[in-house]
Amino acid sequence: MPRRCYIPGCKSNYDSSLKDSNNNNKCETTFSFPKCPQRLARWLNAIPRKEWTPSKSSVVCAKHFSESDVIRFHEFKTPSGEIKKVSLAYPKLCESATPRKFPNLPNYLSSDPPRTRADPEKRRENFLQCGKKVLEDFLSEDVINNFEDLLKNFKNKIPLHNWDIKACSDKLLFYGLNFDIHNGCSVIRTLMIASDLTVRVYIKNNELYEKQLNWILNLDHKLERWSQLENLISHYNTVEDFEVEVTVVDMISRGLAVISKAYTQSETNDGFLYGTQLEIIIDQLTQIVSNKRRYKPSTIIMAFILYCQSPSCYDIVRDFFILPHKRYLQSISGSLAVSPKDEHHNKNYFASIIKTLSVRELVVTLIIDEICVTSRLDYRAQTVVGYAENDSSNKDEFAKTIVAFMVCSAFGNLNEIVKLWPVNNVKGNELASMTKEVINFVQECGCEVVPVVTDNHRINRTMFKTISGNGQTFPNPKDTKKNIFLLYDLYIFLKIYGKTG
Ligand SMILES: [Zn+2]
Repeated sequence: MPRRCYIPGCKSNYDSSLKDSNNNNKCETTFSFPKCPQRLARWLNAIPRKEWTPSKSSVVCAKHFSESDVIRFHEFKTPSGEIKKVSLAYPKLCESATPRKFPNLPNYLSSDPPRTRADPEKRRENFLQCGKKVLEDFLSEDVINNFEDLLKNFKNKIPLHNWDIKACSDKLLFYGLNFDIHNGCSVIRTLMIASDLTVRVYIKNNELYEKQLNWILNLDHKLERWSQLENLISHYNTVEDFEVEVTVVDMISRGLAVISKAYTQSETNDGFLYGTQLEIIIDQLTQIVSNKRRYKPSTIIMAFILYCQSPSCYDIVRDFFILPHKRYLQSISGSLAVSPKDEHHNKNYFASIIKTLSVRELVVTLIIDEICVTSRLDYRAQTVVGYAENDSSNKDEFAKTIVAFMVCSAFGNLNEIVKLWPVNNVKGNELASMTKEVINFVQECGCEVVPVVTDNHRINRTMFKTISGNGQTFPNPKDTKKNIFLLYDLYIFLKIYGKTG
């Protein structure tokens, strides 16, 4: 026997209403009164029945609740992640459910359930989404697609009080005229937009500089948005506030822009002979208008050449031109450090020469010679030079001789010193390891050493014996099928030496 609803006037689950017209069971779901005192108070307050206390068996049927308050399904997630719904045999009420619908009583007794507030996080998210959407809409509306778009729509988009308009196929001009009893009519402000949407502003015939437009435009000074145009129009609407003060630096900046443009154009013009000079002049003007000292390579090269010729002359030239400080040039030459000791730079230098040679010229003779030098120390390229490098037992001994390694092309004009080794009392076996090292160095750069030539000195004979055993040939370390020949031939040596002068 289903329980009868205790709401006044409700006939749910009474015998008379249990069967529908087709004699089917029409049992209504019912809910007991809540046990929680607050919820119970809420229910009793809502139900229009005076001086009545519900018993344990009192129930209210589902008709008096919003459908959203009644939980009829159980939802669960399957292991595959799918969400499934199962009907509950006994539907439940949600926490906040209160009977508010009384269909058989006067309307005013029923009320809608209070609107529940969404989760604050969700509301915030919705709000943000909404704001984002508005912003996106605004931004997409705000874009000026091209010059045609500008020509077609500027009248609708921009309020143009105080401005006259002249629209051509490749320019759009906004301008303002001033009538003066003494000077007649003059143009006091012009906003010119070219077909590539570049903006130029003139106030009383003076063009505003790039930086004067940076408050609204990007560096390329192109109009991208309607809002930019609107801002420009309203900003320059009254020009009284825009007394354009032209400073010397501003004037030079303007001149510099013109010369730079000419220089760029001259690069594609073969007939123009003064590219380098112009570059240096542009660099000088750039120094005048900019706060930071940054020189173009051509200026640095010129300065360096001048400085190397005569440091004191360079000082004088610096009084007339803006040129790098001497210390800066010294630091450059210091970092170059082309010295016998600097393997890395020597190799780069030598390799760059090798690149210019033909295959035939890459076959080279390695000549070893010993040069007597005065024993002394020197300070070059921020390092002390002059110590012998062969004698490891005595690090402080000065070099008395330098072993020079030179390469000459067998079929060509290559004559280069590849290594200068400061030594003292060098021994044959030391010279042998030096020679091997130089052969590897030369061949790593791309050459092929065929003979090694020295004079017929005792040390050289020992060196040859150390390298080859028989004193005549030894396998090329790069390609062991080939041999490197060892020759004592003062004649060849002198001949090659004579060729180099
Ligand atoms: Zn009922």
